[in-house]
Amino acid sequence: MRNDVKAIQLVWLSKTGLTNLNSGEGGSNLVDIKKFRYGGQEFPYVSGQAMRFYLKEAIRRHLRPEEACVADEQGETCGRIAECVLCDLFGFMTTVPDVGALTRVSPVKVSPAMGLLPLEDTMVTDFLTRRHRGAVVQQQAEMRGDIVNVELAVNIYKAGICIDTVRVGREEELVQVAEQQSAKKGKAIKTVRGVQLKDFAPEQERFRRITLLLDAIKDFSDYSKQARLLTDFTPDFVLVALQHNYSHRLQKAIELCNDGTAKLNVERLRQIITEVQEELVAVDSKPALWAGMVEGIVDNADEVKQALQDLQVPILTPRQAIDAAKKALGLEGLKQ
Ligand SMILES: [Zn+2]
Repeated sequence: MRNDVKAIQLVWLSKTGLTNLNSGEGGSNLVDIKKFRYGGQEFPYVSGQAMRFYLKEAIRRHLRPEEACVADEQGETCGRIAECVLCDLFGFMTTVPDVGALTRVSPVKVSPAMGLLPLEDTMVTDFLTRRHRGAVVQQQAEMRGDIVNVELAVNIYKAGICIDTVRVGREEELVQVAEQQSAKKGKAIKTVRGVQLKDFAPEQERFRRITLLLDAIKDFSDYSKQARLLTDFTPDFVLVALQHNYSHRLQKAIELCNDGTAKLNVERLRQIITEVQEELVAVDSKPALWAGMVEGIVDNADEVKQALQDLQVPILTPRQAIDAAKKALGLEGLKQ
């Protein structure tokens, strides 16, 4: 993989079918949707924690059990950065025998997925029945059911990821950089310390982990309630960037016009891409930024395509855009 890439950044839109991806606190007879308020209106969202869970489970499908631990009863994971792909990518707060408490900051930053269309126009409350059989059936072979209300919504969500590539498979360690000696006799010497990155996994393995993560963005699917509310929540419109500088600026590139339609704010798109261009690495002497889109997501797709063409951003499908970034990174065929 290219080692001048300090950040791999993606921001995307995903349009879902009628579903309930992430429940809030609800009540005994209500499965609600997690919501936030903005400008006097309610919108749905999927928490960053849930997004990370979906990605973890997508990656786990490709790993051996020893490469992907599950949390114990206390919710603690193994903390083995060298061996465990999930602990490396997603960080942990855990206790390790004979070592004590350990924490790792995740090198993978994930946003919550924010619904962009007001719930008022997009939500319905449906009810489902929970049937009880067995003991109840014995009472005159009757089937009793509880009625539970479920909030369902269609929406367009915005989400994003930024991978701190140099920290994958590595962890900061303290190093002594200088000593300060006191002029007074008998006074203790003070050591000055800094941090440097220590490798926990060889280069090929670090790159394989980044590949697994990029592929997970293409196919993550372990959202809740899919047994009867199956939908796809992977990117429908995506921007993928390879940056020589770590920043989150690209996350602001995608915004709707705030008029209740699915029109993308094209001026914003132009402004942010122009700003981010100075941070992009060059691939075949072009800036490393790709767009992927499928039809029927944004209302002003022609205008968006024109803006992307003007900015020399290649327009592919979402999966092709991620694959183009993988190819430019030199990550093809690294999954096994
Ligand atoms: Zn682990």
